[in-house]
Amino acid sequence: MFANSDTSFQIVKSSKGTNKLSHDGYLYIFNREAIKKEWRCDVRGCKARIHSVDETIIKKSGEHSHPQEYGKDEVTVMVDLMRKRGRETNDNPHVTIGEMISLLSESAKSLLPNQQALKMMHQRQRIAPPNPVSLEELQLDAENNKTFSNRNFLFYHSGIGPNRIVIFATKENIEILPCQRYG
Ligand SMILES: [Zn+2]
Repeated sequence: MFANSDTSFQIVKSSKGTNKLSHDGYLYIFNREAIKKEWRCDVRGCKARIHSVDETIIKKSGEHSHPQEYGKDEVTVMVDLMRKRGRETNDNPHVTIGEMISLLSESAKSLLPNQQALKMMHQRQRIAPPNPVSLEELQLDAENNKTFSNRNFLFYHSGIGPNRIVIFATKENIEILPCQRYG
């Protein structure tokens, strides 16, 4: 049916709880339900699709616009599992993270976020402070100002006061905002 005859795939759970199809180094998001299921590549803008019926791939369409990332499925599973352990147990994050990393393939290890970011993912489940009821109560501590990939997430802070202004965004996020012109 197609050149690559490997039709096996695995379903993995993302950290958001959605299922992704893992095949040949690519992850796919579920797209459409019919008799067959259609999955699109999880890389934004990539046109590659997989059609599956039951446990088998019956068709592949589109070309990937990027190289394969073998191990990305393993990292997705590991991060999901780690968050769960952080939420449900009191185990030591260093031990948990170390154990989990030791089970990964070399290609998965190369895709891991850094240790500090992993530790924060593991812990964040427990240490999230209660939501502040006013702007003045909002605590800005170093750990909450970083994204999971350890980028700075506090874009602007005017200082504490009744007219306090806080902007959360990464520099990269701001740069990709579309520039709209009116008039
Ligand atoms: Zn792709």
